[in-house]
Amino acid sequence: MQILDGKKAAQAIKEKLGIDVAQRAAEGKKIPHLAAILVGRNGASETYVAAKVKACEEVGFKSTLIRLEDDISENRLLDKIEELNNDPDIDGILVQLPLPKHISDENVINTIVPDKDVDGFHPVNIGKMVQGQPTFIPATPHGIMLLLEHYKIETKGKHAIVIGRSNIVGRPMSILLSENTNPGNCTVTICHSQTKNLKEVCLLGDIVVAALGRPEFVTADMVKEGAIVIDVGITRIEDASKKSGFKLKGDVDFEKVSPRSSWITPVPGGVGPMTIAALLKNTFRSCETKN
Ligand code: NAD
Repeated sequence: MQILDGKKAAQAIKEKLGIDVAQRAAEGKKIPHLAAILVGRNGASETYVAAKVKACEEVGFKSTLIRLEDDISENRLLDKIEELNNDPDIDGILVQLPLPKHISDENVINTIVPDKDVDGFHPVNIGKMVQGQPTFIPATPHGIMLLLEHYKIETKGKHAIVIGRSNIVGRPMSILLSENTNPGNCTVTICHSQTKNLKEVCLLGDIVVAALGRPEFVTADMVKEGAIVIDVGITRIEDASKKSGFKLKGDVDFEKVSPRSSWITPVPGGVGPMTIAALLKNTFRSCETKN
């Protein structure tokens, strides 16, 4: 068993981006600028946004964090996004999900102008991704593809099982793995809450991507010997022994599954850091194509 170390791979991507940003600065070109909107006070969201802002600093990007109260009206939030859409200094806009119930994710995502949608959630960008056109790829699946690329994992012809069909992880993941690219070129089966015989389906997987948000759902008897296992799940579990009061659990029972796998991502330190690296790459690309 070998570890797909997302921290290391993300660090390599950040170092390269840092050099590229310094180069742009030396040439008097514009520095990438990411604007992040955080609505309300969700603990996990606070942590994710703080990590994204910190990563921007590490590579020399500008970042602006906009905090809004959780009772903000949808219209005011959309106005704020429009303001950022029209600000030529802003290259990338992200709105941290989940949003309070009275705000529609769909309206928010659709309001971000596609060429600043560095999370890759806008229907225009999703459409381009489906057709294999260059675009912003949703950060988590993009990060997983970068991780497979970093470790030169051969995916061609393999059978990938993706568990979860969300618009931000499972579905785009299934599309990327099926594309005629490297990594890619997999035969893909997408599973979800209505899938029958999930265990039997999983056992067919040369690659298993778990993105359902249920801690330790994937057990050793569901994974074929030698499979590549990608654990996207992050769930906070109460743990009084930790300073934070919780620990993070993935969707895979790492202890039992890892001895059967050829490669596996840990949680934390696997897909999470790669999601941020992919977001940075998207933001750099946005700046480069505009300026
Ligand atoms: P989601 O709740 O939107 O989707 C979950 C999917 O899992 C659904 O499509 C559902 O059909 C499927 N599912 C639920 N129960 C199932 C079951 N018993 N069997 C088979 N399928 C089942 O979640 P999401 O936004 O895609 O996130 C999934 C997980 O990934 C969460 O833990 C989330 O925190 C994590 N996540 C991590 C990162 C990261 O950077 N590492 C990024 C995004 C999401």
